[in-house]
Amino acid sequence: MNIVMLFVTLPKKEKKNMNKKVCFTILLALGTMMASAQETLWLQCNESLPTPTRIMPVRQSDNNHQNDGAVQHSVDFTVDRNFSTNYHSAYYPGHIKVTPETPAELIYDFEDVERIDDLEYVPRQDGSLNGTVSEAEIYVKTAADSDYRLYQHCQWPLNMDTKCVHFEGGLIQPVSIKVRVLNGYGALASCAEMAFLKMGKELTNTDVFADDLCTRLKPGTTRADIERIQQPVIRQLATELLEGTYVTDYRVASYDCYDSPQWLAEQWKTPGKCYDQLQGVTGIVVEPGKHLVMVEGLPEGMSATLKVVAWYTGLTGRSFDGGNPEIKTYDLKNGSNIIDHDSRWAGLAYIAYFNDEGKASKCPPIRVHFVGGTVNGYLTPDQTNEQMHQMTAAAPSRFIDVVSRKVHAVWTSAGMHEFCKADDGKSPGYRQYMNILDTLITWEQRVVGFEKYGRVPKNRTLLYVNFTYGAAFQGGLGISSHVDNERGLLNCQGLLYNDSESVWGLGHEWGHQHQLKPYFCWGGTNEVTNNLAAYYVLMHLGYRYEQLHWGKREGLEKGVKHYIESETDDCILESSDLFERLCPFVKLCNYFMNEGGKPDFLPDLYETLRHSQVTPDSTNVIPYVFNFIRTASTLSGYNLTPYFERFGFLRVKAFEIDDYGKYTYHLTQERLDAFRRDMNTLERKKKLKPMPADMVERIAHTPDIEYEHPHFEN
Ligand SMILES: [Zn+2]
Repeated sequence: MNIVMLFVTLPKKEKKNMNKKVCFTILLALGTMMASAQETLWLQCNESLPTPTRIMPVRQSDNNHQNDGAVQHSVDFTVDRNFSTNYHSAYYPGHIKVTPETPAELIYDFEDVERIDDLEYVPRQDGSLNGTVSEAEIYVKTAADSDYRLYQHCQWPLNMDTKCVHFEGGLIQPVSIKVRVLNGYGALASCAEMAFLKMGKELTNTDVFADDLCTRLKPGTTRADIERIQQPVIRQLATELLEGTYVTDYRVASYDCYDSPQWLAEQWKTPGKCYDQLQGVTGIVVEPGKHLVMVEGLPEGMSATLKVVAWYTGLTGRSFDGGNPEIKTYDLKNGSNIIDHDSRWAGLAYIAYFNDEGKASKCPPIRVHFVGGTVNGYLTPDQTNEQMHQMTAAAPSRFIDVVSRKVHAVWTSAGMHEFCKADDGKSPGYRQYMNILDTLITWEQRVVGFEKYGRVPKNRTLLYVNFTYGAAFQGGLGISSHVDNERGLLNCQGLLYNDSESVWGLGHEWGHQHQLKPYFCWGGTNEVTNNLAAYYVLMHLGYRYEQLHWGKREGLEKGVKHYIESETDDCILESSDLFERLCPFVKLCNYFMNEGGKPDFLPDLYETLRHSQVTPDSTNVIPYVFNFIRTASTLSGYNLTPYFERFGFLRVKAFEIDDYGKYTYHLTQERLDAFRRDMNTLERKKKLKPMPADMVERIAHTPDIEYEHPHFEN
């Protein structure tokens, strides 16, 4: 299953003014976490953190806005504190294009303002990207300036996340701020809110600490020094540091920069199929309310956000009803960040620190300190099974992150504790489980050519638990399975020996993540070509063909019976059986990887297809079918046209294909003849050999490749 999901992230400043005491009571009542006395103390201290003050302009103006007659979508909508009303540049009846030569300008004037620390741009939140700003210049004018001066040139990813411009040291006595939009989606500009914030002063009084992250006291700091500190959070932190009781595990950590999953998908030709976007696992629980987060080392021009994810949001069931995890995004800057987590739910915290240009390895890591944060911890292969068994028993959150070399999984803490058993069926199997997941991904990456062609990323893929969808699916965040499947999916013995369906499920969804679209995932193959990965992953685990689910075997066998052993004019892309459609791909790859003496046939096929240049023909899948046959032929050394003709890929007919979108199959006699001529020309030029008379049958009846059961350390 393959689902594109939209996660709506509400910006942090959309406050419901929730009474924090009520909020805390609800939290306890829900039993989503069991706060220790120490955690409760920190939560109480956090309540005293200053919330930023919103500074309102005395007037605002723009040079380009949509005028519907009844409604003028002017700059006024950016300061109305309403996230569902937007400023929008003119698009009808005349589209006034927003370009670097003709920018849209939003101007905000201030009077008698002492200081502005942050500007926050909140893109429209209604799901449309139109006008979302991707490039802007921020001009400022203070009492000390005679004219505007450029403060920052901003490039922002096209999404709904709040974008923050931090004025280092504060913009003192601001007179005017001009946002000059150079580029926005669709040559438009739009904005839900533009906020100007002054941070609370109290946190500047952190001079008892020896470092920027506030993790050590200056030598000689006394109890009397600490008692003079007004701010309760700072005083509590200093006290615990002085007494040597402050635990920095998980609270203080370093986070590497990763290439953004979107950038990777571009390189891999897997549009919209993203590796983990919650890469920076913290092991910290963020409860509703205020929190102090210190950051250091964020390079100029780079951004990082804190994402707080509530993996459960109150909905349970088996029909996909929108019960997505709740993700709240908070911008981070160097120094102190006061996060006001406006949610009913406590969430797990993740640091999103990505580079969009493939230069992550050149970006220094950042360091983050969740002051007094509630520690949940996370599982890693370098811990012992006993340590992890204790952690899953004691985790304050209902959820726990499992972070291995290639996979970031999120399961319920109780599920991990109860079901994650080793292949003896009894002992805790955390390490073995992580080994299995890593190996499955290694094989997936090998199949699609990542290993051979130097494309193995440092990034992990995400696998998470859901409460509202019966089967597994691949969506906007990663791959997911229902909480009821934890018993099977966490059990190493089952995965390794007798639960081919669970392994197939994982291989299938991860197969989606690596599907080349459209070159090996054209209309009619969305739920087919990813199964090649599922098939190989399962066989590599040492499973035998007979252990495949009967429905899958039946389909695979029907493929040969229907097209090779009988006469038919049917087109295989019209077949309703996904495994019948899978059959010719499995047979072809098995033959060339084994008998055909080309063990790298599949990785080579993926990499060559990745470099395809196909001119689309409206919604017609034929150009991609031709491209595939030509590519497979070139790699095999044979003109494989007869094989694909026999398997019903090339029929003179036209029909519609419904496959996560509307496609058509339309092949005329002229077009088929031209393709055959092209392929025959390659034969004449000795670039391809003709298939010997019995080769189609030999490929179609090629046996499965059998592997030994690998050993997985626990
Ligand atoms: Zn699927």
